[in-house]
Amino acid sequence: MLRPIVRYPAAVLQTQAAVVTTFDAELDRLIDDMVDTMYAAPGIGLAAPQVGVSLRVCVIDLSVGRRGGDLLVLVNPEVVSREGLQLEEEGCLSVPGFDATVVRPAKTVVKALDRKGTERTIEGTGLLARALQHELDHLDGALFLDRLRGIKRDLIVRKIRKRQREGAW
Ligand SMILES: [Zn+2]
Repeated sequence: MLRPIVRYPAAVLQTQAAVVTTFDAELDRLIDDMVDTMYAAPGIGLAAPQVGVSLRVCVIDLSVGRRGGDLLVLVNPEVVSREGLQLEEEGCLSVPGFDATVVRPAKTVVKALDRKGTERTIEGTGLLARALQHELDHLDGALFLDRLRGIKRDLIVRKIRKRQREGAW
C-alpha cells in the first residue's frame, strides 16, 4: 500500500527516530508499504520518517525494483566505518525538485537488522555508500539540506517557502 511522502519542513523529518524493539506484522506492513512507496515515487531509498513513522527503519534499492536481490531493508542501522570522500549531486523525495552537491564518504560499512531481526553487515561504495548515509541521516532527523553550506541551504529553503506560500508544495 502506498503511503503519502512527508515533505520538508515536517517535524517528523527533523526528529531522532526511535529504535525498533518489536518485530511483528505491523513492522512487516510498514516495510512493505515503504518499498511500494519508494518504487512508485520512484526513488532509490526511503526512511520511515518520510512516511510519517518515527522509527529507525529504511529501505534502499539502487535498481528501483528492476533487479531482484537489490532491495535492502535496514532496521536499527548503525555505521561501523566510513572511508574517503565523494562529491555528487543528491536529492530527496521529501525535498522534491531540489538537488545539491553533497559531500559523503566514498565507502561506508553499516550494521543493521533485517525485518526478522537478523543482523547483517552491508558494505557500500559509490552510490550505495551515498544512499546508506542519506537514509541513516533521516533516522537522526537530518536532511541533505543540513549538510549544505549555509548560503546554499538558505537559497533552497527560501524557494521552498515561496512554493508553500503559492500552495505549490
Ligand atoms: Zn531523503
